[in-house]
Amino acid sequence: MPGFESITDQIRPALILNTFIGKGAIPHALLFTGMEGVGKQAAAKAFAMACNCLRNSPDESPVNSKKPGSSGKPENYGPCGVCGSCRKILSNSHPDIIEIKPSGPFIRISQIRDLCELLAFKPYEARIRTVIISDAQTMNAAAGNALLKLLEEPPERTILILTATEKSDLIPTIASRCQHIRFNPVSRKRLAEMLVESKGIEPADACIFAAMANGSFNRALALSDKSRLKKRDWLVNKIESLSLKETGKCMAFAERLSREKEDFLESLETLKIWYRDIAIFKYCPERIVYSDLSDKTKAASARRTEKDLLSKFNEIRIARKNILANANLRLTAETLVLKLVQSNSPGG
Ligand SMILES: [Zn+2]
Repeated sequence: MPGFESITDQIRPALILNTFIGKGAIPHALLFTGMEGVGKQAAAKAFAMACNCLRNSPDESPVNSKKPGSSGKPENYGPCGVCGSCRKILSNSHPDIIEIKPSGPFIRISQIRDLCELLAFKPYEARIRTVIISDAQTMNAAAGNALLKLLEEPPERTILILTATEKSDLIPTIASRCQHIRFNPVSRKRLAEMLVESKGIEPADACIFAAMANGSFNRALALSDKSRLKKRDWLVNKIESLSLKETGKCMAFAERLSREKEDFLESLETLKIWYRDIAIFKYCPERIVYSDLSDKTKAASARRTEKDLLSKFNEIRIARKNILANANLRLTAETLVLKLVQSNSPGG
């Protein structure tokens, strides 16, 4: 949908938002849910722009204001991106676009109280003042109750847009007062295109990062540097070459893996994709994620049984669970490495 292009790969949400503006029926509160990095923030901003875009202004003559809907397609009420209002919002300098984010791990009651005070006044200049509350699930109970009051008596010409991963993460009384729009993970193809467009990444590399990112653009961006691929190569080489007999080397590898928690979790993801590639290579070699390692994957696929791969998946799952439960990282890594390299040893 042109005009809502920033709502990447989210056709349904873009259509719904477009319809709200087309009908002039802007809800008091919206809830955008979906995993991190699928464009909820961008969509909230695009919607704030569209609500206030001078081209969508009722004062504008319809001839100039909207691109005509051709071939039965709905008219496009997306933001123009160039008018005074759009540019202010794009540069984060619009006084009536208010963003609330967790301060530390939580959204605090003081943040919502300040918001209530601000909303008691009329908007400065916006047609529709927009409040974007990111990670609304991080509101503590007191903040949630304060927000609930706002939702029960919504201020004039104001829309609240809450974002969260899951609807069930929110207090039900809050969720039920918002119109819910669900965002899907971004497709691999679109993620790869975005990496090429926005970061100038080589298309072949972009495909690998996109496949690793599981539908999240933020994650794809975070992954998209060459050093990640080097790290992956190191991990894959180690895990395929070590044997149980080399206890010292296994322990050294475990020590490297376990130095930092987030990094350790990332390594587990990398290894999971590697084993998954080996498992699916037999059936659909064209679907592997690490397409640049296809020769290696083929060789590994020939010498591994499904049972072996399943048990490795399981070991990774257990390790991940332990790490998240704050188990000892070093111990977790040692156990994992020994389990993973077990079948590398002859007769192991
Ligand atoms: Zn505009």
